[in-house]
Amino acid sequence: MKITRLTTFRVPPRWTLLKIETDEGVTGWGEAVIEGRARTVEAAVHELSELLVGQDPARINDLWSTMYRGGFYRGGPILMSAIAGIDQALWDIKGKVLDKPVYELLGGLVRDRMKTYSWVGGDRPGDVIAGIGKLRQAGFDTFKLNGTEEFGMLDSTRAIDAAVARIGEIRAAFGTQIEFGIDFHGRVAAPMAKPLLRELEQFRPLFVEEPVLPEQYEHYAHLADATFIPLAAGERMYSRFEFKHVFERGGLAIVQPDLSHAGGITECVKIAAMAEAYDVAIAPHCPLGPVALAACLALDFVAYNAVIQEQSMGIHYNEGAELLDYVVNKDDFHLVDGYIAPLPGPGLGVVVDEERVVEASKGAPDWRNPLWRHADGSVAEW
Ligand SMILES: [Mg+2]
Repeated sequence: MKITRLTTFRVPPRWTLLKIETDEGVTGWGEAVIEGRARTVEAAVHELSELLVGQDPARINDLWSTMYRGGFYRGGPILMSAIAGIDQALWDIKGKVLDKPVYELLGGLVRDRMKTYSWVGGDRPGDVIAGIGKLRQAGFDTFKLNGTEEFGMLDSTRAIDAAVARIGEIRAAFGTQIEFGIDFHGRVAAPMAKPLLRELEQFRPLFVEEPVLPEQYEHYAHLADATFIPLAAGERMYSRFEFKHVFERGGLAIVQPDLSHAGGITECVKIAAMAEAYDVAIAPHCPLGPVALAACLALDFVAYNAVIQEQSMGIHYNEGAELLDYVVNKDDFHLVDGYIAPLPGPGLGVVVDEERVVEASKGAPDWRNPLWRHADGSVAEW
């Protein structure tokens, strides 16, 4: 079998689906995107395609190594997201050829169902309480929300109090009936991370995510020494060669590799195994589409230390399309009490509605994250 063609479809809300075709008619789907730089990743996919067309799609390990090591310069969000989408599609092909789900090819199920959580509130969270109430009716009991809006390197007592009051209201409204993680989103710099973590500790969040930016990972160990809140990060780390630094330095209780950003299934299986050796949990990052989620689930169902799965149904970014809009087998994604069962189909288990994808890709918006500024006019982290 030979790879014959790679086709990318940029679709709303902010995703890129990748189709890999073969000369025997089997096709695989991946999701190759970094949010806000979709066209750059698309260009990288098409550059990498010259290493793939004419090759045997079954040799995933060799193709992965060729894409990663064959280019001299490697790593980073663009190249690793391109490799990730290609890797997902290659696993999809392998599963379809062997008529088995990818998790079977990776050694079989380690659990029967996977717990998921839901985002609540938007970039500037308003009515989080009402949002949680609605999602609880849909069966969710675990949530994630943004901890702050713009936050200065040295911000005010007032800003801390505002963040603390909001989280306090959630705990007061729902008690221990719910769990929630708080995403600092890299908005908080090291000087404020410690006081904010200390003030939020009383509400016992499930975790705090990106307590500082990942490029300041050397702070994670110090912050972990100062709080008993589990710290999480990893959506902006792109390979095991980056994750090894946080494992060695310590501080993170949970790592959150993104299956569409960190080299795909092939790489994230290895990152998960490294994490397990350090007694670190994994919670794959996935505010993306159905193929990315399916790739995450393929990992969750074989990795003992996978604890919870992010998914994007109803997320504030999904303007113009929802998670299951491009999926034919929607029932396979049905959540029961916030848990999802292994997708039963071969490969990644997603039957992509190609007609809909092609139609949606015509004139798809080119999503950008908002640009924020502090009160003094300087750039704020979003
Ligand atoms: Mg995050």
